[in-house]
Amino acid sequence: MSANVARIAARMAKLDASGIRKVFDLAAKMTDPINLSIGQPDFDVPAPVKAQAIAAIQSGFNKYTVTQGAAGLREAIAAACADEFGWTDGRPYLVTSGVSGALVLAYLVLVEPGDEVILLDPYFVMYEHLANLCGGKTVPVDTYPDFSPDPARIEAAITDRTRMLVVNSPCNPSGRVYGDDVLAAIADVAARHDLLVISDEIYNLFCYDQPFASLASHCDNTLLMRSFSKSYAMTGWRLGWCTGPAAIIEKMTMLQQYSFVCAPSVAQAAGVAAMQCDMSAQRDAYRHKRDMVYDALAEPFGLIKPGGAFYAFVPAPEGETGTEFVERAIAANVLIIPGNVFSRRDTHFRISYATSDEKLARGLDILAGLAR
Ligand code: PLP
Repeated sequence: MSANVARIAARMAKLDASGIRKVFDLAAKMTDPINLSIGQPDFDVPAPVKAQAIAAIQSGFNKYTVTQGAAGLREAIAAACADEFGWTDGRPYLVTSGVSGALVLAYLVLVEPGDEVILLDPYFVMYEHLANLCGGKTVPVDTYPDFSPDPARIEAAITDRTRMLVVNSPCNPSGRVYGDDVLAAIADVAARHDLLVISDEIYNLFCYDQPFASLASHCDNTLLMRSFSKSYAMTGWRLGWCTGPAAIIEKMTMLQQYSFVCAPSVAQAAGVAAMQCDMSAQRDAYRHKRDMVYDALAEPFGLIKPGGAFYAFVPAPEGETGTEFVERAIAANVLIIPGNVFSRRDTHFRISYATSDEKLARGLDILAGLAR
């Protein structure tokens, strides 16, 4: 193929996947690894959700829906938000292809070249890569060692180029759940600086020690994003939603019209059934796995107890980088991710405990044995 045919837009050079690629290269050589790297539930989609999807296909609900999302699902989301937040203001909801879809639309609508996006470090990788793709610049606010953000540090990071802050609680990769007090303080900073905040609440059902708290109940400047991916194990169905300032949702909807068109129709039909499912048994099972992780790794690694999602972000042993420890773990047949994939630091590693208790126990045993 000629160089001209294969000429790639310059913006792609701003995406760097070298950290994770290195891990996958090493992982490719493993046979039957204990895989503690996967960011999705190990339980299956609830039966009523599957049944609803099958019924939708058979009844011919297979065409495009309206761009903003099928009325039935948007009504169910609005009713859930009226319950949770007391919102009855007729605000707009946009059904998206997961939180990923919402993030792509939001960044493209909001971030200009040179704009700064404040991230709480460590952060979910997509927040950084999308900013780079838009020609923006990420400004990390360090939250080590306990991963609770300091509102004063967020405030100090604000400049006249700041476009938005991204908040994610429960957090991937740290598993940290922000308390109502921290969220109220962040909302206060946002109000005083007239700052937009994306609140990625994809793990809202997975809080183990305290009720989930949303930034959106404190902060009018919130672009709230949720997803069916983790809550109902629907990662492959590509369904999420977003709400926030009407002027922003309107432009995101317009862009969705010319890109994704709509979220998958069958997933939208099934999403209504998903919202009626009680997922407390799954949450309890993940709390138990969290406890297994904490019991095994607190002492050898100095892990601070994570409160939500299904991740632990564990300090590497003294004198070793996260990457070096991950190489040793992979050599011992446990697949984990080095912290520098999610952070400007290379001091930690991420484990996902979304796997069977039996596999998790074996993996934790090996990891604890590798702690010096
Ligand atoms: N946000 C966070 C924090 C995530 O961990 C993930 C997936 O791992 C996503 C967003 C993307 O999820 P979705 O499947 O809804 O696009």
